[in-house]
Amino acid sequence: MLPALALLSGLALPAAGDHAFVVDIAKADAARVEALKHGDGARWWLELGDRLVVAGAREPLARLIGERDRLGEIADVTPEQLALRARGCKEHDAAVGTLLARGGRWELRRLAAGEALPAPDSDEPHAQWRAVQPDSVVARQYRLDHAVAAAPDPLVQPLVDAVDADRWFADVTTLAGWDRSSYGTTSLTQARDWIGDRFAALGLAVTKPAFTFPGSGGSVTRSNVIGTWTGTRLPDEWIVVGGHYDSRNTNLSSTTNAPGAEDNATGCAGVIELARILVANRPERSVLFMCYAGEEQGLYGSKAHVTQLQQTGDLARVRSVVIMDMIGYSTDTTLNADYETYPAFAAYMNGFAAAAATYVPQLQVTTSANAWGSDHVPYLDAAKPTVLAIESDYDVYPHYHRSTDLPANIGPNARAMGAAILKTNVAVLANEAGASDRIFADRE
Ligand SMILES: [Zn+2]
Repeated sequence: MLPALALLSGLALPAAGDHAFVVDIAKADAARVEALKHGDGARWWLELGDRLVVAGAREPLARLIGERDRLGEIADVTPEQLALRARGCKEHDAAVGTLLARGGRWELRRLAAGEALPAPDSDEPHAQWRAVQPDSVVARQYRLDHAVAAAPDPLVQPLVDAVDADRWFADVTTLAGWDRSSYGTTSLTQARDWIGDRFAALGLAVTKPAFTFPGSGGSVTRSNVIGTWTGTRLPDEWIVVGGHYDSRNTNLSSTTNAPGAEDNATGCAGVIELARILVANRPERSVLFMCYAGEEQGLYGSKAHVTQLQQTGDLARVRSVVIMDMIGYSTDTTLNADYETYPAFAAYMNGFAAAAATYVPQLQVTTSANAWGSDHVPYLDAAKPTVLAIESDYDVYPHYHRSTDLPANIGPNARAMGAAILKTNVAVLANEAGASDRIFADRE
């Protein structure tokens, strides 16, 4: 599917560094991955989801790895020459260095002599570079550590089964009918009000708090949409379920040609679908179902929400957060998703991977504690347990940030992909939010 490697062997350089192999570990088990990392000749390694880079002495490593799983080799390399680049909006732009491997939401690049790690681009929240720490896990296939899934909970299973892929996709289609650039006005406002109407129809209390952010012609004012469910038993404990409703095209400042079906009508419609299912089960805790504007320009909507929570003193009430951004695209019928957080919240994140293993076994989850680039980041920076759910093929979606990001172009796997992530999330939320009526009814 992807050009995973540039073959750099044969460079006529003195052997100052190690010989590295890029290894396919998509089918390997945990023992095999450990054996590769610490086998004869191995000196350092990097794990990126279904790719492992092992470096050391060539001959013993070559014997250990074998031909079949070897995706490529890199001669004379040191960790200092490598950098991690976030797989995001600038996918189609020229980047410094040479691509060595992709895995998780990162790509590994080798910088040429004299090439420096690029500074972060303040205009582009998706574009980030990080230095490489040898012997580190950038992203991890959940299945490696958890071979046996828990049995389904009969109280949770009905909520999982309630996810309706056709109903969700109909909402994706409605949202994609509007131009939703945060620099546009009329269409974005129509989308905002339509989302608010969906929340209101479910009986949620709807607010549309405004916030401002810088635009080319001065300050821009836009609104988030929040549908609040007040918990039946624990109303002061809040769960946030969010995703951005704004969109963009390749030209960030354009106000048109931004249907944004996959990015991010899928996530916004996902918030609405989860609201339908959870509200019908009358959660014990309060739930803020919300869609953000201003994400594409710099996470302005989610930042504004965190600021609002801080100003009202409500941040302490927030128990956990789930963000969905691009949940509908898959290149093939093998369904993959990335869940990410900060290291402090790894246990919360692993709960999503565990839920997938139990309720959606066809979904392969890769986890990462190296979060970046969507509405989960402001909550994580405010020290709240937060995950992002995103399908794993987002950066090879050919219509990414284009006027052709239309429902039909998400492709034949859209419903299966979206439903897999929504089922996973609702399984966790059934417990997080406490789907009270359902649970109490069944226990009587
Ligand atoms: Zn997005």
